[in-house]
Amino acid sequence: MTGTALPSDHRVVVVGAGIGGLVSALLLACRGLPVTLVDAAPAPGGKMRQVMVDGAAIDAGPTVFTMRWVFDQILAEAGVKLEDQLRLAPLSVLARHAWRGQAQTLDLFADLQRSADAIARFSSPAEARRFLGFCAQAKKVYQTLEGPYIRSGRPSLLSMGLDLGPRGLGVLAGLGPFASLWRSLGRHFHDARLQQLFGRYATYCGASPWAAPATLMLVAQVELDGVWAVEGGMHAVALALAGLAQRKGVDMRCGQAVQEILVRQGRVCGVRLADGQALAADSVVFNGDAHALASGLLGEAARPATPPTARKDRSLSAVTWALRARSSGFPLVRHNVFFDADYRSEFDDIFRQQRLPRQGTVYVCAQDRDEIARAAGGDGAPERLLCLVNAPADGDQPAGAGARSFDPLETDPCEQRSLALLRQCGLNLQWEPHQAVRTTPQGFNTLFPATGGALYGRATHGWMSSFSRPSAASAIPGLFLAGGSVHPGPGVPMAAMSGRLAAATLLAHLDSTSRSRRVHISGGISTPSATTVPMA
Ligand SMILES: Cc1cc2nc3c(=O)[nH]c(=O)nc-3n(C[C@H](O)[C@H](O)[C@H](O)COP(=O)(O)OP(=O)(O)OC[C@H]3O[C@@H](n4cnc5c(N)ncnc54)[C@H](O)[C@@H]3O)c2cc1C
Repeated sequence: MTGTALPSDHRVVVVGAGIGGLVSALLLACRGLPVTLVDAAPAPGGKMRQVMVDGAAIDAGPTVFTMRWVFDQILAEAGVKLEDQLRLAPLSVLARHAWRGQAQTLDLFADLQRSADAIARFSSPAEARRFLGFCAQAKKVYQTLEGPYIRSGRPSLLSMGLDLGPRGLGVLAGLGPFASLWRSLGRHFHDARLQQLFGRYATYCGASPWAAPATLMLVAQVELDGVWAVEGGMHAVALALAGLAQRKGVDMRCGQAVQEILVRQGRVCGVRLADGQALAADSVVFNGDAHALASGLLGEAARPATPPTARKDRSLSAVTWALRARSSGFPLVRHNVFFDADYRSEFDDIFRQQRLPRQGTVYVCAQDRDEIARAAGGDGAPERLLCLVNAPADGDQPAGAGARSFDPLETDPCEQRSLALLRQCGLNLQWEPHQAVRTTPQGFNTLFPATGGALYGRATHGWMSSFSRPSAASAIPGLFLAGGSVHPGPGVPMAAMSGRLAAATLLAHLDSTSRSRRVHISGGISTPSATTVPMA
């Protein structure tokens, strides 16, 4: 960040210790601002949470650590090295994929050629060549969007066009005007199983492959750049950032919900906690879902901060099972994906019928099976698993006749269908009732209020969705936004980036010499961009 002198009495309250809030708090404290970080949950991390199951801590949120450079840069800004804070091990097998009733599985590897060889054996040499062509295009898309989109404040259509330039626009035009991810994959792959496999990248943003823009193919490049296992699980990332933030002076208060964001004469002036206590602040960074503000959950005065997210625009929720289970019959690796036959029906069920999928893909994260946590390895001892099935973000319907409850009557059949799919792929799981913690969309809505359980903010549906997430600067002076529901989007590294953008935007607003307040972050320096359209 820029090194101009800042008023050290500018008090900041950060609401939410998810990854976005943690990063904002850390970076603002590093610039000498007094920061208080408040979270309703008993521990930091937000969705990056762990649950205790039968005496074992299991990651019950994100399990894939990617885009390491984001964290390298954030920690460098805080004056430390990532490798001194966390132990990471790169995964050589990115994920194992299986299909209902088929004995053949397909592994994707960190090594591109190894994946191509695996695809040649699994499908055909021609399909392997097409895979390499797909990866080449994904790389170009990623390189095109990293600067103008991922590292920058939310662009407008115009500023994006200017930032991309003729070359970048050419790369995006090459995807086909307004093509969906699914359609674009159909042009690359002839084997429907590969279309299904790579279509799943849309769900990383909580979207349907049929509605997500083709640009989401960039996830292929993100994974090729490296997928890591973290010692202590993903929750350790949150704990490391929280510890560092506290050492930099952040006053961290977990277990305290913010009930109201206080606004005086049109400007933020503090927050009121659920116990009635008021904390004065000159700026507030809100790390909950942006819709919580628009819905009035944080008080009427904060409602105009950002436009609401319509129910139809919500991203995916999930039903998850954190298990200590015995597994047999299938050689699990850390990340495993089990596909059913009719992929389209999964998204029709969720987004159109608003019901749990009849043929849902099942993701299984075997948390004792990586280079760091090598332990259980199929010797019959219970191992730590997180199983996940996508679900509609419908966890906030009021009680009453016909209301959704995601109770066992609804979720038990989903569990049975999922276990049947795993069995048909060869995997048998066994556990006792006390060895399972289930979370439904209703549970996620309680943890992350005003979302209905949507885990990724608004769904990335349609090409304009990239421009429809709120930006770091809200419509209320002094109120800034960070997290997966705001630009540049969901996922741990992107939400971390949003926290960095929120901190940089707040600082840019403090710096009266700024010519523009749309920030662009490059290589550890956050600067207000003089070349882009001012946002506020
Ligand atoms: C099951 C699951 C699997 C996922 N898998 C992956 C994955 O593999 N890889 C990946 O990169 N991403 C994954 N994600 C997405 C990723 O976890 C999120 O995008 C990211 O962690 C969101 O961070 P955030 O900054 O938005 O904060 P959040 O995690 O949403 O945290 C927000 C915090 O704000 C607090 N809060 C909200 N309102 C208030 C209030 N009024 N007062 C006080 N505190 C408040 C909440 O308690 C919470 O702690 C997954 C998510 C889930 C749930």
